[in-house]
Amino acid sequence: MKRVLILGGGFGGIATAHRLKQRLADEVEVIMVDRRDHFMVGFRKSWALVGESPLEAGQKPLESLNRIGVDVRRATIEAIQPDEKSATIDGEKVQADALVVALGAELNTSAVPGFAEHAFNVYDPNDVPRAAKAFGDFQGGRVVIGIFGAPYKCPPAPYELAFLVNEKLKARSLKASIDVFTPQPMSLPAVGKAMSDAVERRLADDGIGFSANHKATMIEKGAVVFGEEKMPFDLLLGIAPHRPPTVVRESGLVGQSGWVDMDKRTLATSFADVYAIGDVTQIMLANGKPLPKAGLFAEQMGETVAERIASKFMGEEPSATFTGEGYCFLEVGGGKAMMIEGNFYAEPDPLARLTDATKANMDEKRSFESQRLREWFG
Ligand SMILES: Cc1cc2nc3c(=O)[nH]c(=O)nc-3n(C[C@H](O)[C@H](O)[C@H](O)COP(=O)(O)OP(=O)(O)OC[C@H]3O[C@@H](n4cnc5c(N)ncnc54)[C@H](O)[C@@H]3O)c2cc1C
Repeated sequence: MKRVLILGGGFGGIATAHRLKQRLADEVEVIMVDRRDHFMVGFRKSWALVGESPLEAGQKPLESLNRIGVDVRRATIEAIQPDEKSATIDGEKVQADALVVALGAELNTSAVPGFAEHAFNVYDPNDVPRAAKAFGDFQGGRVVIGIFGAPYKCPPAPYELAFLVNEKLKARSLKASIDVFTPQPMSLPAVGKAMSDAVERRLADDGIGFSANHKATMIEKGAVVFGEEKMPFDLLLGIAPHRPPTVVRESGLVGQSGWVDMDKRTLATSFADVYAIGDVTQIMLANGKPLPKAGLFAEQMGETVAERIASKFMGEEPSATFTGEGYCFLEVGGGKAMMIEGNFYAEPDPLARLTDATKANMDEKRSFESQRLREWFG
């Protein structure tokens, strides 16, 4: 029997495992490895931080994929040997007929001196409870939401966090101000100036400060430092610089971009039968900007790879491709969300649009989570 080894049990890995089992059932052995024991959608972290809903409410055990015949292993991947389609997992070398690398992005707090001491690492679920407590205890002053590197996961998420923080602080009648900064030239470079302007106008309308082209050099007690300039804060919610996990950086899979390079439609790496999907990759769009790192894209890439592997195992010519079409939500408070949707592979620029903020979009955002939890975990 053919074996597929999936490294990582996030959006991409789970979608790959499910689709392989749908296509090939017992004709394929699927091993999925993750050091975590559960899945959770990314935006849960922002909801938990502002006290909207706890992290645990959106967590599902990965081992429940055993019920569809996936061999889920909770373990650490210590090395990847792409030329052998194998990986070393808790000391054991596991070989496969196809290898899917879906290991996401790692948060590199040490890249910014002072980050660990002075910022809350709000993309790290382990730091969210501490950040939520600090936010709950906050009695007023300046909240700074800082993007410390790019690319980072879900580009609208820091702005979404600003809207949610603003809503909660207003409800508590606190005297507070909120500022967001980014090293990028605009809020959402992948989708261009017009849509970035719309987001920045909305921030301004809500009284939220926005600073582009701000690359922090360090953080000291009470202030983010940008060379000569300083931005004081009372509470710093930080998005740490991202990089591929160490095991991927040491695997020989990382290219010039600093991320895993692969074909943007077939998702094949330069190693035979080795695929890379999701946040661990970097796909450059026609406008020279990277494809946003998003769960929906990781999922679609996983389904594409599963289809291609299944076709190959069945002796057919693989035809499935990743199209770069997708959407993501931008919650703005008041139970409403905007949606950014379109074709990111369009040339010369993504054909994307930003919808109005509506309650219907917010409902869709909630069902984005509930539908996946139901379909994937039963
Ligand atoms: C605040 C926030 C809001 C977001 N909102 C949205 C949204 O609205 N829509 C959307 O589409 N996306 C959203 N995202 C982005 C989304 O969460 C990611 O893009 C998505 O999780 C990427 O999927 P992935 O499979 O590539 O990686 P991941 O889901 O990160 O999975 C990678 C897995 O690999 C495992 N791993 C890594 N290294 C090892 C190792 N050495 N050994 C064992 N296991 C390892 C990790 O434990 C992890 O489970 C959001 C993210 C954040 C932070």
